Amino acid sequence: MISIYGRPLTLQALRAALDDYREKILSGELARPPADEKILSKSAEFLDDLVSPTLFPVINATGIIVHTNLGRAPLSQHALSALQDAAKGYSNLEFDIAAGKRGSRLNHAQKLLRQLSGAEDAIIVNNNASAVLLMLSALCKEREVIISRGQLVEIGGGFRIPDVMAQSGAHLVEVGTTNRTHLYDYENRINENTAAIMVAHPSNFRVIGFTAEPSIEQLAQLALKHNIPLLFDQGSGSFLDVTPYSLDYEPTVQEGLQAGVDLIAFSGDKLLGGPQAGIICGKEHLIGKLKRHPFARAMRADKLCLAALIATLTHYLKEEPLQKIPVWQMIAQPLSSITQTAEKWQRTLQANLIHVEIINGRSRVGGGSLPGSSLPTKLVAIMTTDAQRLSKALRHASVPIIGRIQDDKLLLDPRTVLPDQEEDFLNSLIGICKNYD
Ligand SMILES: *Cc1c(COP(=O)(O)O)cnc(C)c1O
Repeated sequence: MISIYGRPLTLQALRAALDDYREKILSGELARPPADEKILSKSAEFLDDLVSPTLFPVINATGIIVHTNLGRAPLSQHALSALQDAAKGYSNLEFDIAAGKRGSRLNHAQKLLRQLSGAEDAIIVNNNASAVLLMLSALCKEREVIISRGQLVEIGGGFRIPDVMAQSGAHLVEVGTTNRTHLYDYENRINENTAAIMVAHPSNFRVIGFTAEPSIEQLAQLALKHNIPLLFDQGSGSFLDVTPYSLDYEPTVQEGLQAGVDLIAFSGDKLLGGPQAGIICGKEHLIGKLKRHPFARAMRADKLCLAALIATLTHYLKEEPLQKIPVWQMIAQPLSSITQTAEKWQRTLQANLIHVEIINGRSRVGGGSLPGSSLPTKLVAIMTTDAQRLSKALRHASVPIIGRIQDDKLLLDPRTVLPDQEEDFLNSLIGICKNYD
């Protein structure tokens, strides 16, 4: 143990094991001291626990593509190798090769983002939450920002639009009602202290029924008329139209800008399918103000993020996201191919005497995007009398398998199981299910 873990750690583990046994003896739980081997094996457990990473890969069989709890977007091969290259050695992160002097990290990906979005300029920060905070802090501090009551949402993980606004120093002016807000509601509240109109995507929440919101175009015209910017927190921004996959229409980033949005902010690791990042595209003079704000430095993206993001954006430029970006491969995967995979799993499992059924179900895009819309899928249902217990056993596999439970059935969705994990997944599944009822 000393040769593997070093002396201080081994000593600590031995002491912890001894303490544990002493307590058990004092409390009467143990009648006599354990054998030496037991103390050693308990110490080994402590050591193993101390050095094993708390962050490790899992298999996502939930069918939720951008699963916030499971790390959101898996990266493309190209993004992975770009990230590795950037991590391994030095790069021109802040070095201008042509001039031979200090450059700016803010210049990376700018050309790509301009080309893809049609925006004049762009800035990349750590995540979209910081992007929103930066926009509001740099442009709206101690002034008023008008937003519809229907958009004062909590996105999850404690990100609440009104709280973020308060932290930025901007004064929230809420207009309209939860379900209906009209253009005149905004117009009535514009005064000389208005800094901006803000639109926030309601993320994983939807108001249905008797509802009304002015369009982005209408708000853009209103903002232009009063010479104030229109800011759009799009959350899960996308360069690709989702409607070909029978998902509900959402404007793309380019459409948002075309409609007259001055600044649009979105995440790098939601529908975009890249690394965690916050991207803001829009008017040059506004992006300039963001770049000069002290928060821009505090929230700056690191080189690994930039490398992976540039590689991801390049896929869009080359019109190959459906072939190269895992999130889009999963969205675009036809039902016939999912059915084939489900049938293959069924054959393999049945050959091992594990009884499964294939049932119709729905996959979701997740990540707070496209609430209420879903993709048709085939689910592999494992027949068991205790789905909770089986689910727990699968979670404790060497690479944990995360499925979902519905009507006392354990369901696995082939859509989100990555091809290179499939073999291990099946072997692990067989190993665990064989020991079950
Ligand atoms: C997800 C989301 C955010 C937060 O983005 P992160 O990249 O998770 O920081 C902010 N606003 C909206 C509307 C979102 O959907």
